[in-house]
Amino acid sequence: MRAVDCIIKKRNGEKLCEEDINELINGYVTAAVPDYQIAAFLMAVFFQGLDFEETWLLTNAMISSGKRFDFSDIPGIKVDKHSTGGVGDKVSLLLAPIAASCGCKIPMMSGRGLGHTGGTLDKLESVPGYRVFLNEKEVRDILLNDGFVMMGQTDDFVPADKKMYALRDVTGTVESIPLITSSIMSKKIAEGSNALVLDLKCGNGAFMKDIDNARMLAKYIVGTSQAAGQKIKVVISDMNQPLGKSIGNYNELLESAAALQGSGDERLMELTYRLAGWMITLSENAPNLEVGIEMAKKVVASGEAFKLFLQNIEHQGGDVDYILNPKTLYKNTTTVCTSQSGYITQMNSYDVGIASIYIGCGRRKKEDSIDHYAGIEVLKNVGDKVEKGEPIFTVCYNNADLETACKLLEKSVVISDSFEDKRNIIFEEI
Ligand code: URA
Repeated sequence: MRAVDCIIKKRNGEKLCEEDINELINGYVTAAVPDYQIAAFLMAVFFQGLDFEETWLLTNAMISSGKRFDFSDIPGIKVDKHSTGGVGDKVSLLLAPIAASCGCKIPMMSGRGLGHTGGTLDKLESVPGYRVFLNEKEVRDILLNDGFVMMGQTDDFVPADKKMYALRDVTGTVESIPLITSSIMSKKIAEGSNALVLDLKCGNGAFMKDIDNARMLAKYIVGTSQAAGQKIKVVISDMNQPLGKSIGNYNELLESAAALQGSGDERLMELTYRLAGWMITLSENAPNLEVGIEMAKKVVASGEAFKLFLQNIEHQGGDVDYILNPKTLYKNTTTVCTSQSGYITQMNSYDVGIASIYIGCGRRKKEDSIDHYAGIEVLKNVGDKVEKGEPIFTVCYNNADLETACKLLEKSVVISDSFEDKRNIIFEEI
């Protein structure tokens, strides 16, 4: 079957077979099928979808496109967490040392910022020297030593996803349930985890804007994970306002360090402890969720998790002085203030995420470099009462399109006379 025939088949809403999918993906990684044909295929999938069987076949074809890790010689259940992407989402930075302090073994494969969302790798690399691209021996040694390792996707690890992810970002095909499922799950199966906790973000700053779509994505991911023999828990969580107080890279890492020392934002910690509780439970380090959550709280209170966080930074080549003695590496600051008094009833985190790109925290194009030290501090939350002229955001920057960023930040906030919040940070669990 020629690539164009697969594209036409999917464009016409027909079902693809194993051979079609394998040929397309193999052809893509060996450069026999060019980017423009895969871009057309992605758009056909975006509109016509893939059923569960096709999604499973695509996931497997992507896994087979590169090498896999095998940690079966390391005792215990290897557990990972993944987020579908949000604004101010630094949960992985806290979760890995917390869960590892409770006995979990976590080979954490993380990503870079995608669209308006931030990426764990960019945050970690704000510490000079920190290396996310490790060879297999280093991955294994750090995993054994620290209980967790933070790694980026190398060229030979699920290369089909690496290429497709970049193409999706620039072809308007990110928000597709089968494509998100195969992208996440190919990496999570190939990295050698036996259990997975997925933080599925839902809301104005997430790829899944409404709960029905979030539930459908959860169904695809749970099915794929179980078919691969993994244990899985999906937590659908609120992304209708940024998570925590900082948005950027270095500032999010510093917020995570402070949170690990006991001064974390309430919503951030509630979600972190819940996800940690599930990781600890799925990996059989706790008999149930309640015990898992208590264990997680204990290792933060004792300082054990923070110690492990610093240890990992050192083991991956980072300069811990950047955590122990925080630096100010931006030249300018400005504030964005309210235009009226009242209650903040909405904060559009998509706009806040895009504003962060305009001050340099994220990329407009894949090859753009980022400013690790620029950032936005969120001074008020949804539900807070504000007076006209009160600051809501502090913007810290070096080189920025400040006007666009500030306009977006102003627009992101909706203020009304009254406010009644019925939303929890955790919507539901599957
Ligand atoms: N995270 C991924 O790894 N892939 C996606 O498609 C979306 C979020």
